[in-house]
Amino acid sequence: MVKDRAQKVRSLLDEKGLDGLLFLHRPNLRYLCGFSGSEGALLVGRDEKVFLTDSRYTSQAHLEVTADRIVEYRVQLEGIVREAQATGLRRIGFEAETVPFATVERLREEGGERLEWLPLGKPLRTLRWLKDGVETETLEGAADLAATAFEEILPMIRPGAVERDISLALEFAMKRRGAEEKSFDFIVASGERGALPHGVASQKKIQAGELVTIDFGARWQGYHSDETVTLAVGSVDPRLREIYDIVLDAHDLAMDMVRPGIPLREIDRMARDHIAERGYGKYFGHGLGHGVGLEVHEFPSVSPRSEEVAGEGMVITIEPGIYIPGLGGVRIEDMVRVTGDGHRRLTRLDKKFRSLPA
Ligand code: ZN
Ligand code: ZN
Repeated sequence: MVKDRAQKVRSLLDEKGLDGLLFLHRPNLRYLCGFSGSEGALLVGRDEKVFLTDSRYTSQAHLEVTADRIVEYRVQLEGIVREAQATGLRRIGFEAETVPFATVERLREEGGERLEWLPLGKPLRTLRWLKDGVETETLEGAADLAATAFEEILPMIRPGAVERDISLALEFAMKRRGAEEKSFDFIVASGERGALPHGVASQKKIQAGELVTIDFGARWQGYHSDETVTLAVGSVDPRLREIYDIVLDAHDLAMDMVRPGIPLREIDRMARDHIAERGYGKYFGHGLGHGVGLEVHEFPSVSPRSEEVAGEGMVITIEPGIYIPGLGGVRIEDMVRVTGDGHRRLTRLDKKFRSLPA
């Protein structure tokens, strides 16, 4: 499978008139050759795919990397240039959106006149956006692991509990179940803090009558999950209940639209219009969702500015929210895969309004 993926990028050689492609971005290395370590490089030429790394990772590379050759270097950029020169590459494309400018400058210095380095932005954006069966199962596995950990710590969510303790317990429960890492710093935002769309867990104590928004995910076998639940602790202000129902309807309406061929901005618009019609338009400021895979936020985004159309294999999040300063907020998030004739949800926690005992 990893072999076919390198074939996929080779079409760029003719399209862009290149002899080779250099990959340094870790998620792309993992995707194209299976390497899970922290430093390496992949040179894809017309006939050969060469993986380069330093002595810390040579043994690991021999175990997990699919490549025609594995080359060990001492200094990364020197090693890349030497390999490119030895194999006669001249025009080489690189990942314009992730390679630091200083690295490009050094490649140009090291390589001198004989090598030409060409930035590839847009053509590489879509490299990982359609997930195959194995990737989908892995994403679902990550989401399932995170959900099981969430259910385990659920009884902790009650009046007096500190947001940060909930976040730590959730991380611990995930890692004990085999997560490699948390997908991102968890958001645990209760009461008025719920109005902060990115309110990472604080020292605040949860109180009865508050909503608590928890946005969390696990990284498992390199793939990330991303899910948000908003729960009530005891009975809440009717206005909070009202915004919960609006967000849930916006979420369901958008989710129902997901199918191949639909413009992503239309999915965003469905949720956005619903929230606006109910009078809360100005309280939903962010995009509706994003791609998720080897990175927790990846191409494409689902927003009013999206220009892409949903295609089979895309995995995106649907995460509308309403955030009212001084009152609180609600966000509901699921991961969904575009299938041949519709969609399938990959996250499994029920999003119906739920009130925990206070
Ligand atoms: Zn999230
Ligand atoms: Zn998200």
